[in-house]
Amino acid sequence: MRRSRRGTGRRRDNPQSTPPNPYNEPMEAGKETRALAILGSTGSIGTQALEVVDAHPDRLRVVALTAQRNVDLLESQARRYGPRLVCMADVRAAGELRRRLEGTGIEVAAGPEGLLEAAAYPLADTVLNAIVGSAGLPPTLAALGAGKRLALANKESMVAGGELVLSVLRTGGEIIPVDSEHGAVFHCLRGEDSGDVEAIVLTASGGPFYGRSREELAKVTVEDALSHPTWSMGRKITVDSATLMNKGLEVIEAHYLFGVPYERIKVVAHPQSVVHSLVEFKDGSLSAQLSVPDMRLPIALALSYPERWGPPFKRTDLAELEKLTFGEVDRETFGCLDLAYRAGKEGGTATAVLNAANEVAVEAFLAGRIGFLDIEGIIRETLEEHRPTGVSSLDDVLAAEGWARGRASAMVDETRRQVRG
Ligand code: NAD
Ligand code: MG
Repeated sequence: MRRSRRGTGRRRDNPQSTPPNPYNEPMEAGKETRALAILGSTGSIGTQALEVVDAHPDRLRVVALTAQRNVDLLESQARRYGPRLVCMADVRAAGELRRRLEGTGIEVAAGPEGLLEAAAYPLADTVLNAIVGSAGLPPTLAALGAGKRLALANKESMVAGGELVLSVLRTGGEIIPVDSEHGAVFHCLRGEDSGDVEAIVLTASGGPFYGRSREELAKVTVEDALSHPTWSMGRKITVDSATLMNKGLEVIEAHYLFGVPYERIKVVAHPQSVVHSLVEFKDGSLSAQLSVPDMRLPIALALSYPERWGPPFKRTDLAELEKLTFGEVDRETFGCLDLAYRAGKEGGTATAVLNAANEVAVEAFLAGRIGFLDIEGIIRETLEEHRPTGVSSLDDVLAAEGWARGRASAMVDETRRQVRG
């Protein structure tokens, strides 16, 4: 990535870093191991990252794990992978986990401070941020501030606080994207001169409602929205994929990660999710990255960078794929994509407001409180009421988010009153 010190394979040797190897296998001579903190280890990305650890126990050691409140799963992960530190963002859940892990020697931290401790944990050299939502922003800043390699799945960090993240990145640390599109772009840019880039082309599966009309979208249910055709993911990102806000968030993420203006970030529909994204160069050539859709691939690629570790989780048999298709995204039916472009171009606090309004609206939709199209309506109105200002601190982001959450929540209540009335 343009602003990071990429390509160095730079790692910190940490003499204290000797956590248990759960497999009791000798580490192969000459191979460096990476000490990994996984933030959000109980989620979709987090559990798949642990499968990557299972596949490469000689290269990856888990030193810290965090989750929101799933005590059972974090306990079993802690017993299996033997981290030195675990953290539950929910303070009561942390108390329960501390009781259960008594006598294991594993430190149990709690709350937002515990999350920051895990993000900047001295025994970790690589931090995977797999938290969902802008709750991931403070840990992103903490990990970079501590000079870590940050494998970033939490796109909301970049959307809510892109400018802040870049300013911390200038002082240290590095980001390797985990989001499959950005991982693809990152790898297409390896060895290229950023001045030769004409455009970034993000592919979009189109989600479960590809090809539907507004009338049809008005009637879809939570269950419909949660059945994604090509990816199995957490609930929030699955709904984001159905509204195309996921692609909107990814456009903003790409803008900050690769320093490309919004006019030169394109989105193309690609229902098979095999071409993960492309870079178009000045000479008209396109580079793409392809594989069958499986998030363990981009996770492994981010954790192994600049190396490539085999064998693969799945091989891509081109003959079996039969056909790859590309088309225009229907931006009128799926209005969230243009809302994201608009907020991105406005800059300042607008993207934090977009993201926070989206988080509130998606949660309300998942709880059955509003309809599918209300998500877009609530984000649009919140953005329209907002007067963006510059961002120079985390407090600026938190204040804008607080305002947006308040406005969007009021709109959720209002929408419900209208439906009932
Ligand atoms: P998920 O809901 O399955 O998991 C989220 C994790 O974060 C869980 O471990 C949860 O305990 C933790 N968490 C939730 N709220 C928290 C909070 N307030 N504080 C601390 N921890 C909290 O989500 P996911 O699908 O794994 O997605 C994680 C991130 O990765 C999201 O930003 C998403 O957009 C991105 N991403 C996911 C996929 C995918 O395939 N799932 C693909 C690309 C990018
Ligand atoms: Mg993606």
